[in-house]
Amino acid sequence: MLDKVLEGWRLKNGVPRHGIFLADRTPSKSFKHTFLLLNECPPLGLVAKYPCFIYTFFMGKTYVFVNQKGGVGKTTSALNIGAYIADEGKKVLLVDFDAQANLSSGVGANPPKPGIYELLSGIATIEQAVKKTAVPRLDVIPASIDLSGAAVELIEQQDRNLFLKKTLAPVKDNYDFILIDCPPSLGILTLNGMAAADAVLIPMQCEYFAMEGLSLLLQTIQRIQRGLNRSLGIGGIFFTMYDPRTRLAQDVVKQVSAYFKDAVFSTIIPRNVRLSEAPSHGQPILLYDPGCSGAKAYQSLAREIIARSDATEKNKNVPAQSAEISSRNGG
Ligand code: ATP
Ligand code: MG
Repeated sequence: MLDKVLEGWRLKNGVPRHGIFLADRTPSKSFKHTFLLLNECPPLGLVAKYPCFIYTFFMGKTYVFVNQKGGVGKTTSALNIGAYIADEGKKVLLVDFDAQANLSSGVGANPPKPGIYELLSGIATIEQAVKKTAVPRLDVIPASIDLSGAAVELIEQQDRNLFLKKTLAPVKDNYDFILIDCPPSLGILTLNGMAAADAVLIPMQCEYFAMEGLSLLLQTIQRIQRGLNRSLGIGGIFFTMYDPRTRLAQDVVKQVSAYFKDAVFSTIIPRNVRLSEAPSHGQPILLYDPGCSGAKAYQSLAREIIARSDATEKNKNVPAQSAEISSRNGG
């Protein structure tokens, strides 16, 4: 009987989020035990009437790459981490939310339309905007230069900061990870990215000004946590374009790691010319040169992110971790 009632919540395409174990009485009065996989959790009122257990699993995570400073490696990190997470067997959606569209060209999304701008202006459906890439299990919603006018269009909308969250909601459960690339500002696009995400990933270059920018960014994250997205956590900080020959780079890594402790990923992304060449071939480093030092570092960072995500799923400690960072930052 419950079998029939659950028809609407049956597993369709996509990643199962819930399992339901039910014992149903058959006409011969014996019990029939069934295990169903579902995309969506049926309403508790409905299942309360029947003897059943619900299991929830495969919780997908949305990360946003944020740093208001330009050229710190947001895009390079989003696309290469995405490719390596997909290589680990996870389903990944990259979202290019920057009018520069570097992420789209970096994964060879061609043509880039319809993409995120067409979703914003209501002339495409999410199914039309999601494109496959050359990496198995890695999809992308591309951007184009048209997105540069989006800020004006968004400001006119009532829920201007929630556009991305609402847009991604129908596909969120189809992916294990959604990674959003943002422009170098803390404007409306980045606010949308943070409203849609579970956690922020902060790429940081090993230089003095980067440390100044970090405290402004953390203050902004605190503001978002107080209003727009109370469950936003800090996924972690990682260093990019590291050159071990400079004393300054070593000092920045030491100081930031001493201050932010566990929030800093142990993998450091080295400066590596192959990483800067790969986008001109429309390929993540995984396809372009998987043997180079940059590729190995991104693979290691992707594994750390998966491990951290699994751990936070178990402990649900991301908001706690971010509060800890905030308070150490004087907030
Ligand atoms: P923007 O703020 O403009 O969006 P960004 O933070 O997304 O920039 P990227 O575009 O990823 O930064 O990187 C800036 C430049 O540095 C690019 O030319 C990229 O190819 C290069 N780059 C990124 N990471 C590395 C690295 N580890 N080694 C060498 N070059 C790198
Ligand atoms: Mg970028």
